[in-house]
Amino acid sequence: MLPALTELATVRVRQTRGYHYCEICVRDLGEDAGDAVRQGAIAHESAEFEVRGDDVVYAAPQLLLHYVAAHEYLPPAEFCAAALGAAS
Ligand SMILES: [Zn+2]
Repeated sequence: MLPALTELATVRVRQTRGYHYCEICVRDLGEDAGDAVRQGAIAHESAEFEVRGDDVVYAAPQLLLHYVAAHEYLPPAEFCAAALGAAS
């Protein structure tokens, strides 16, 4: 799953001007989160990527790769099937 997502995420869409930081990492760091954010030590991203399935286009945050790799998040089955089918 992660290799497919990594490949698909190379095409960044809907780039924003700010960053979204991983809220799970921020929560886990507690009072130290502010320093970690300022040092760039917390996963953060500023765009989405798309996964094209049958008659549907999913939009996913770039941080999805981090959620899968670091926090063992598993996206819904339909999204996973589309990602595995869309990656080369
Ligand atoms: Zn995290």
